[in-house]
Amino acid sequence: MDHEGRLGRLRHVMEQRKLDALLITHLPNIRYLCGFTGSSGTVLATYGGVTFFTDGRYAEQVRAEVHGCHVRIVRKSALVAAGEWLADEARLRKIGVEAAHLTIAERTSLAAALGNKSRLIDAPPMIEGLRQIKDADEIDRIRAACQLGSELFDRVKTVLRPGVSEAEVAGEIEFTARKRGAEQMAFPTIVAGGKRSALPHGRASTAAIPPRGFVVCDFGVILAGYCSDMTRMVHVGRPLLKARRVYNAVREAQQAALEAVRPGATTGEVDRAARKVLKRKSLGKYFTHSTGHGVGLEIHEAPRIASGQKELLRAGMVITIEPGAYLAGEFGVRIEDTVVVTETGCEIVTACSKDLITI
Ligand code: ZN
Ligand code: ZN
Repeated sequence: MDHEGRLGRLRHVMEQRKLDALLITHLPNIRYLCGFTGSSGTVLATYGGVTFFTDGRYAEQVRAEVHGCHVRIVRKSALVAAGEWLADEARLRKIGVEAAHLTIAERTSLAAALGNKSRLIDAPPMIEGLRQIKDADEIDRIRAACQLGSELFDRVKTVLRPGVSEAEVAGEIEFTARKRGAEQMAFPTIVAGGKRSALPHGRASTAAIPPRGFVVCDFGVILAGYCSDMTRMVHVGRPLLKARRVYNAVREAQQAALEAVRPGATTGEVDRAARKVLKRKSLGKYFTHSTGHGVGLEIHEAPRIASGQKELLRAGMVITIEPGAYLAGEFGVRIEDTVVVTETGCEIVTACSKDLITI
């Protein structure tokens, strides 16, 4: 991974924001900048260099993982240690913090460590901005994660039967993922049958798969740090006309959104492409969430593919396209792929058939 290049680009955005230093506390951002995969640490970025503060539990791990930073192993909170280091540097006055990733208590103890010579500035999500454009190494990892994720759907087809609990189906997906190298699931696996399929985020429960109806399966793995995300539907028994109609409408909406993905399009336009199809089929009001999100080190990251968003798609972004229609008390349908934005359009990396499977 190109940690040097990332730190260089970070300095560039720090300059634009006129920050003397930036304290990075969000772990995925720390991993992105310096490779550390542990669960506690703070990165201090200045123009003179980058220092990673952590405690003794990670001394060994840091030697193996961390690149491009000075390392300080400290006995106290890494954030406070970084603050005390900064307090001795009279030239560094404007200190950016990741406002979205700092508790009030952390901010208070940081301010106490800094003293009153420097000023804490709520920095916008600068590293999240850099992370939107994936490099070739990252795209390779996401491809591999999505390949593994897609293969898990074969397991679903063999274990999903009426009477089996949603949790058991989810458990099979997760066990297979681990056996094939996944570090963990990217989010709690969604397997929701019958009326529960109308819950956009219906986590797998102890409910049995009903003898008839849709089952929504939405799952993702983390492989070598990067996430996959995919949703496919299974129908138990022959689908009735209404179920087929809704399924086909969502599939058409998803296809329309996929075709709208290209560099220079706004994320709002992609959302609108999906929404337009569902509106035309009188299903617009049942599409109650946004069309997609960025995927990378985190399962939900920038950009948002949502109504009214002006953000421009750029080659190297990795996003999901996942329209749905949820008919409360009846059933719901969602179809989701993860795609890489290319120079000319997009590449679907969750390559798994979207023909409706009936069992
Ligand atoms: Zn999903
Ligand atoms: Zn998703």
